[in-house]
Amino acid sequence: MSSGVLAGLVAALASGAVKVIDLTAPLSETTPIIELPPERGQPWRFDREAISNYDAAGPTVYWNNIKLSEHTGTHFDAPVHWLSGKDLHDVSQVPAGRLVGPAAVLDARAQVANDPDFLLEREHVEAWQAEHGPLPEDGWLLYRTGWAERAHDPVAFLNDKHTPGISIDCARWLAEETPLVGVGVETVGTDAGLAGEFEQPYPCHWHMHGAGKYGLTQLHNLALLPPTGSVLIAGPLPIVGGSGSPTRVLALVEREV
Ligand code: MN
Repeated sequence: MSSGVLAGLVAALASGAVKVIDLTAPLSETTPIIELPPERGQPWRFDREAISNYDAAGPTVYWNNIKLSEHTGTHFDAPVHWLSGKDLHDVSQVPAGRLVGPAAVLDARAQVANDPDFLLEREHVEAWQAEHGPLPEDGWLLYRTGWAERAHDPVAFLNDKHTPGISIDCARWLAEETPLVGVGVETVGTDAGLAGEFEQPYPCHWHMHGAGKYGLTQLHNLALLPPTGSVLIAGPLPIVGGSGSPTRVLALVEREV
């Protein structure tokens, strides 16, 4: 016997009372990727090669082979991505129920505009909570920095590693003492560009993945989400043994009609 909840959602989608917002960056050969020192190896850029294009190989068919890394473009970081989470879930093992959940949007654009190396601190999140209520159970903290506005310009987007992130103490607190499932960011990775030089390197990766939690990167359109009340849907590919996956990320948002 149906409770009618999903019928209500379908009606709300039809009426426009619920909108679907695409938080995913377009994926192409120009999609920015993280840049690492040569000895660290390098994720692949997106690339493609036609299998056929309505031509001799397939007169009625257009399709491509594609090549990319698990961490190219808007993507999902699974716990096994980091040493601290190596015995936890790979991306194919993440329970489907944890891919749909409430989102909290914290706007730090003002701080980041003054300091591209800005680090989110626990006090900033606590100030957000004082205004909007507790962080959502099994939900996402979406860290709005305005960085997506740079996505069309890879040099400005990577900004010679001067990109915002999360402090060591805040990352540990979010991982261990809040009910979140993950953190989503607009930048190329969930940590600050200079986080490799921190006393605890890459603290968001270290603490979040060590706690079995997730990351989402290169999000767009956070401006279209309210601080609370939206529902995030992440769709990483279930790559067996995978450390992450390019991901379509959607949000459901209520609108007045
Ligand atoms: Mn990643």
